[in-house]
Amino acid sequence: MTPALPAVALVTLGVLGLLIGSFLNVVIHRVPAGLSLVSPGSACPACAHPVRPRDNVPVLSWLVLRGRCRDCAAPIAARYPLVELTSGLLFAGVGWRFGSTPYAAAALVVAAAGVALFVIDLDHRRLPFAITGAMAVGTVIALAIDTARHGAEPVVPALLAAGLWLAVYGGIWLLTAGRGMGLGDVALAPVLGLALGWLGWGPAVVGLGSGFVVGAVVGIALLLSGRARAGSQVPHGPFLLSGAAIGMLAGEPLAAAYLRLVGLG
Ligand SMILES: [Zn+2]
Repeated sequence: MTPALPAVALVTLGVLGLLIGSFLNVVIHRVPAGLSLVSPGSACPACAHPVRPRDNVPVLSWLVLRGRCRDCAAPIAARYPLVELTSGLLFAGVGWRFGSTPYAAAALVVAAAGVALFVIDLDHRRLPFAITGAMAVGTVIALAIDTARHGAEPVVPALLAAGLWLAVYGGIWLLTAGRGMGLGDVALAPVLGLALGWLGWGPAVVGLGSGFVVGAVVGIALLLSGRARAGSQVPHGPFLLSGAAIGMLAGEPLAAAYLRLVGLG
């Protein structure tokens, strides 16, 4: 466990996460449509009026505006502040868990790209390779810096974990002929496996298993509530990413608790 950051640093990271979350809303809207991320600036989808800087403050603007456009009063989806809030909480969580380490930089990259992929998969049932690729490049750069600072000890377990995640997801994809699981999941799996394997086998295995546990729990809940039927197509990316978040932030204590439970710890 790394030394904890002071509260002021965690709050700063949380605010940075809110601002990144605001940018992720742009990514979520524009990357699947093949639009530029930099221009034009954000505008109301209903009346096309450009969003004023003071109406672009993460979470707060949405609350002040009560979820409506200042110009045409068209509703602004609650998803925008939710994406910002999730990103802010994940950034603070990474700071709390990993302190000021190169690994924390890798975890922030995974968190930011992961939030965008999560929502895009819900919307479009795909995980754009451009975002997965950006996640992979950012993660590898941060882990290379970690190697320079702290040695190459995690490299082999991380590569093996990436191979395990790829084998499991690639295997499912082959066995199910691509139904339910897409090549986007298969491409994302080894990147997450690498990031989690860097922490050790506990986080890598807990993260991998948690994705399927969360998927099963949500699937049963959707069936029982009548919001899905047997055979309904539910995108797997959000479960894959949720499992990775659990493995990254809580994998070590969960793995230790499991080993104690079965009498091996
Ligand atoms: Zn408007």
